[in-house]
Amino acid sequence: MASMPRAVDRLIDALSRLPGIGPKTASRLTYHLLRAGEEEAAVLAEAVAALHRQTIMCSRCCNISETDPCAICTDDRRDHQTICVVEEPLDVVAIENTGNFHGLYHVLHGHISPMERIGPDELRIEPLLARVREDGIREIILATNPTLEGDATAIYISRLAQPYGVSVTRLALGLPRGGDLEYADRMTLSEALAGRRLI
Ligand SMILES: [Zn+2]
Repeated sequence: MASMPRAVDRLIDALSRLPGIGPKTASRLTYHLLRAGEEEAAVLAEAVAALHRQTIMCSRCCNISETDPCAICTDDRRDHQTICVVEEPLDVVAIENTGNFHGLYHVLHGHISPMERIGPDELRIEPLLARVREDGIREIILATNPTLEGDATAIYISRLAQPYGVSVTRLALGLPRGGDLEYADRMTLSEALAGRRLI
């Protein structure tokens, strides 16, 4: 079998490490970029390079941002006593898109999963508890995914938060089990928020 130029192999290898992209898709994307020409490849390369250079993690809510603190954390029109806890930055986008939540967020960057060897220490739980202790928070809404891991994470956090006298709620059922919050439609997510209950 004729060997590929090293640059081709290298890009296929790098792309196939991305979630949801197997070797076949990685090859297709690589050959697309070869055919598309140098300019299109350069646009992609620059966007990838800028990703880390031009983003920062908000030191309050741990969301990805261009500023620290982020635009949501510094918005005086929002309710600073309610925190919606989510697994990933994209979940913030999904909830913001409902237009029905006006509090603050906290991004955990994952969920507890013994199978994947992700323990509570790998998540941004301690900064959340610090906010609960120090910022006069009245309610935390646990909006982790409706999965086994999301539930386990919610239960773990609720146990740690309850001694601080904060009310801890969980999104209502109605979200498809096993699903990802970020893919829930706007209506379902709004209803889940409105119907949240104490745990
Ligand atoms: Zn923030």
